Amino acid sequence: MRIGIIGCGQLARMMALAGLPLGIKFSFVADSGVDTDLSCVEGLGIIAPWQPGQSIEALYQALGKPDVITVEKEQVDLHLVQQLETYCTVRPSAASITQCKSRIKEKQLLAKLDIPCAPFTYQVDLAQSAATLGLPMVIKSLDEGYDGKNQWVVHDNDSLNTLAASENFGDHLIEQWIPFDKEVSLIGTRGHDGDIHFYPLTENVHRKGILIRSTAPAKHISPKMEAAAQDYMRRLLEAEDYVGVLAMELFVVGDQLLVNELAPRVHNSGHWTQMGATTCQFENHIRAVAGLPLGATTLTSKTGMLNLLGVAVPPMKALSSSSSLHWYNKESKPNRKLGHINFTAADYVSLDQQMDLAETHLY
Ligand code: ATP
Ligand code: MG
Ligand code: MG
Repeated sequence: MRIGIIGCGQLARMMALAGLPLGIKFSFVADSGVDTDLSCVEGLGIIAPWQPGQSIEALYQALGKPDVITVEKEQVDLHLVQQLETYCTVRPSAASITQCKSRIKEKQLLAKLDIPCAPFTYQVDLAQSAATLGLPMVIKSLDEGYDGKNQWVVHDNDSLNTLAASENFGDHLIEQWIPFDKEVSLIGTRGHDGDIHFYPLTENVHRKGILIRSTAPAKHISPKMEAAAQDYMRRLLEAEDYVGVLAMELFVVGDQLLVNELAPRVHNSGHWTQMGATTCQFENHIRAVAGLPLGATTLTSKTGMLNLLGVAVPPMKALSSSSSLHWYNKESKPNRKLGHINFTAADYVSLDQQMDLAETHLY
């Protein structure tokens, strides 16, 4: 069995590292304009360079004719994914990836399935959006955003007027600003046979729009909220006949949950599963796309994850009997995700202490 992955970053690396022990071979599509640093996946399989306009037949051959293809990011060339689907199975499907690539398509899908999310406008000018949604509001580019990039928060009428003078944002999604209590995410996985497993809700903290820390299970989540999140994701997975891992980011407001966004792939807020769950998200994604039975998603311990942002060298000192280091082998740049550390503990107090201490040493 050979799996082709579109993308060459750390998610591709960790999927391969989880799939290699299963006897699966890997190939990686390196999009010449985007995947400039290939060091994450060097040595893990075939790396096939690709650029728009190149023959898909030649690419499929160069990949070693994979049995199935998956993606490590939603910002992929959809034409490429659709074309590859004529050669082999793509999981999740090109249609599911398309739904999640555009924020407006994603919102329309949530609305269709009656899944709560922040009120939004689209193709409506800023003044009218502000009249509908109120201020503050958030302007988001449809398909060029990650780590909080390409989005703007409009706090008051002055900034509204300044922004309105510079651009009309008619092709952007505009959302009501949600004064959330905290952010959580749900990672779920669906097998080719429709079997669905969920990891416990994870609590996420962002710094300058970038995820810095996750804790699982999320604190103060009632069984009712956990069930609601799972119900929302189940509706999405089944509506899309989705195969693989799907990630859903949510805002917690009181005892209500609002879906923020979806990612049709393994997710940074699920990295803790490498240490705190029976089967990690990477192995489960590989199992799902390979048509194998899914592994249990049971929590084995309270677990935390700290992202290593812009850290120059692997912080070996962070290794202990209750922590593990994952270094992505990438070139160091400010704020770049270069690795993460997972921590386990018997209780939240000692988990938070370990993570606070590591954060103080690192940043
Ligand atoms: P990611 O790196 O998770 O893909 P992204 O760039 O796609 O991020 P979002 O997740 O939409 O962007 O937003 C980034 C962060 O900005 C959110 O995690 C949240 O903290 C904040 N945010 C986004 N939308 C809203 C909103 N409507 N109300 C309040 N905060 C928001
Ligand atoms: Mg996103
Ligand atoms: Mg997000």
